[in-house]
Amino acid sequence: MKQSKKVLIPIMMAAIFEIIAIVLWLSKDNIFYLFNFTYIGLSLALGMYLFGKEYRYARRVVQLLVGMYMLVYLGLICQENMQIEGFWYYLFTGVFEAATIHYAVAKIFGPLIFGRGWCGYACWTAMILDFLPYKIPQEPRKNYGWVRYITFALSFVFVAALFLCHVGNLEKIMFWAFIVGNLLYYAIGIILAFVFKDNRAFCKYVCPVTVFLKPMSYFSLIRVKCDKTKCISCGKCKRICPMNVDVTDNSRKRINGTECILCMECVKNCPKKAL
Ligand code: SF4
Ligand code: SF4
Ligand code: SF4
Repeated sequence: MKQSKKVLIPIMMAAIFEIIAIVLWLSKDNIFYLFNFTYIGLSLALGMYLFGKEYRYARRVVQLLVGMYMLVYLGLICQENMQIEGFWYYLFTGVFEAATIHYAVAKIFGPLIFGRGWCGYACWTAMILDFLPYKIPQEPRKNYGWVRYITFALSFVFVAALFLCHVGNLEKIMFWAFIVGNLLYYAIGIILAFVFKDNRAFCKYVCPVTVFLKPMSYFSLIRVKCDKTKCISCGKCKRICPMNVDVTDNSRKRINGTECILCMECVKNCPKKAL
């Protein structure tokens, strides 16, 4: 990558988020959005800059900066349920705030541009799972992806039942749902990682958010592409991909194409710089 590009791309990323920050700040008359999206934009820009400098842990830096901010600051301190249950909750109350904006930007419309970048750079569940020892899956992928539809339906039914039963003190319940939900995700994620010898088993089989992420990321503008004239079909990219993507196939229908989290491990490790 040229020196100028290494600086220009992070600046562009920060600028895009700054525009979102200012538009939401002014339209919602809430300065929180200015702070929130500026922080996320700067974290992403820093990560991109470090990636350009070939710093090995660039992605992990962003993941920890954004993930900890969302989990600790927004979730625990501000008591905003940013999980999928929080999304249903705000959707049912008709409030376009916090979790609904977060889902719209990061998980529903954003993936049309940056695919599953959320999963690679910001998710606080994966932030912990990526510390586990199976960064490269040790076993072939299983056909358990259907489980995600069950967890997706359960999250919807849980929140819908709270409304239908007219349960009181919903704000408090959603806060505790955030804590218990996260603990459950971590516990299941860690167990699955060891059972399947794959850090990302939870992402592949269980995570309900992928029901939004996968179809939208099919159309993603930003994708890893393969230069067939350079590729020697050594298979290394597929072997080391944490999500089992067949990245040498440039079609949108490539195997596990909607699973790519843009971690760039394949790009870094291709011996022919074909990606
Ligand atoms: S699949 Fe789910 S748990 Fe995994 S990184 Fe994406 S949002 Fe997080
Ligand atoms: S690692 Fe590079 S050269 Fe090897 S198969 Fe993948 S793209 Fe081709
Ligand atoms: S290794 Fe490559 S294909 Fe696999 S998830 Fe990362 S960027 Fe996507």
